[in-house]
Amino acid sequence: MGVKIAVIGGANVDMVAAAPRLPKPGETVIGTNFTIACGGKGANQAVAAARLGASVSFIGRVGDDMFGEMLERSLCEAGVDTTFLKRDSSSHTGVAQIYVAQGGENCIIVVLGANGRVSAQDVEGAEERIRCSDCLVLQLEVPEEAVTKALEIANRCGVRVVFNSAPAQDFALRLLSMCDVVTLNESEAMQMTGFAIGDLNDAMKAAIALREMGTKAVVLTIGEQGAIIADENDVEHIPAFKVNSIDATAAGDAFTAALAVKLCEGASLREAVLFANAAGALATTKLGAQPSLPYRSEVEGLISGAQR
Ligand code: ADP
Repeated sequence: MGVKIAVIGGANVDMVAAAPRLPKPGETVIGTNFTIACGGKGANQAVAAARLGASVSFIGRVGDDMFGEMLERSLCEAGVDTTFLKRDSSSHTGVAQIYVAQGGENCIIVVLGANGRVSAQDVEGAEERIRCSDCLVLQLEVPEEAVTKALEIANRCGVRVVFNSAPAQDFALRLLSMCDVVTLNESEAMQMTGFAIGDLNDAMKAAIALREMGTKAVVLTIGEQGAIIADENDVEHIPAFKVNSIDATAAGDAFTAALAVKLCEGASLREAVLFANAAGALATTKLGAQPSLPYRSEVEGLISGAQR
């Protein structure tokens, strides 16, 4: 059995319609393609960690509807324990309506639905599971009170916390001191620090500034350039793996999950970021969120191929 990880977060169904261009307000455009896939940062990270060999529990809510069923099935198929996934009959499952134009420009409406009803009581109900985990992984797609409660439990019980500070939320700053490692991308880092990030040097400065806001270590992901680590000792750039990228959806989720798994296995932060870079890179080589999340053998294959 692998390391034990508890993930608290959002689960969404992504509905993606592609069209030659985005519609203007009031306009109807004939689309060219439509896909429906499981997503949401929390559910993605749970599935990713399970595919990388961890024993994962997911804590969250979906509606008592067809989409909720679809998300639960996807989590179960990956081997994620859904004992603490509630089917909430007073709301619908979270959905993301995504429109993509030919050049890649998109616009998205996310309706939180049941994700917005994840409560501190839900988290308390899973306290024993969190306490027995090697790591708590969380993001910001569920209410602040649930996130704060989970952090309090993890801190009290000495459970490692990997916190993906995404999507950007003002209250995230208050949580940094309760986390062992904070992961975030460039736009989230810009919102949290107020820094403009134009190049690698700016990204390094932002990572240092974020660490000085009170967390032990920051890992700033910078897409095809890889990631930057800032901890109490140093700041370091770990370059990305070269792959044939076609869709970056869920790359950050694969990255955060892989980082958590590897840290729990005893790796250093640097080793864990290398592993996470490989998982993130592989997630960009396939379309969609959960369908693109890589398996352990694929990640290890990419790393050993690059070392040869
Ligand atoms: P997010 O998906 O949250 O916006 P990033 O775009 O920074 O986050 O991607 C997360 C990680 O995925 C990166 O740190 C990197 O390891 C990997 N990655 C993303 N895009 C590429 C790419 N084009 N080539 C190789 N690796 C990539």
